[in-house]
Amino acid sequence: MIKEIEIYAKENGVPIMLPDGIEYLCNYIQENNIKSILEIGSAIGYSAIKMALVSEDITITTIERDKERYDLAINNIKKMNLDDCIKVIYGDALEVEVDGKFDLIFIDASKGHSIDFFEKYSPLLSSDGTIVTDNLSFHGLVENESLAVTKNQKGLVRKIKNFINFLDNNQEFVTTYINVGDKISITKRK
Ligand code: SAH
Ligand code: MG
Repeated sequence: MIKEIEIYAKENGVPIMLPDGIEYLCNYIQENNIKSILEIGSAIGYSAIKMALVSEDITITTIERDKERYDLAINNIKKMNLDDCIKVIYGDALEVEVDGKFDLIFIDASKGHSIDFFEKYSPLLSSDGTIVTDNLSFHGLVENESLAVTKNQKGLVRKIKNFINFLDNNQEFVTTYINVGDKISITKRK
């Protein structure tokens, strides 16, 4: 079943977490005893399912704005019998209302809006919680800007760099970067 989701993602160009990235994240969840998770960017439910499988008492709220992917996420989660622990919200994460406290906020949506997601959702982070953000390398373009050729790519590289700068200069949070998947950040309160 998980394998089928991976194959579907590959065949349809759905940018799910890369194997070492999701493995790192799941280990982090286990080691840090994380129980409540908010995910921005469900796509077809792959990472939410993987995270929910870490332990039976994990609950996840995940947000997806693309209707087709949202429907697939709902189906995949149901097939895995995880609909009691994963709640999928259909909508734009910049607009929907979410409440609750989360041990982990996982930002994996539009690369250009990470600061907005961070600012909107960090108040929902539990005192000892972690914010993880994916895609800080953008396939190497952030480290090697000359690889960015289109206007769109250049714009995204600039926004990702802004986000990294925002994290590095944050008064309230401290961040480390891990080179797994497309590079992730691990952010905690100081
Ligand atoms: N976390 C998933 C992959 C997410 S891909 C996994 O690893 O399995 C990024 C997803 O974020 C896309 O499906 C895209 O539609 C969604 N997205 C982008 N911007 C969004 C926003 N503002 N609100 C909600 N979803 C968004
Ligand atoms: Mg990603």
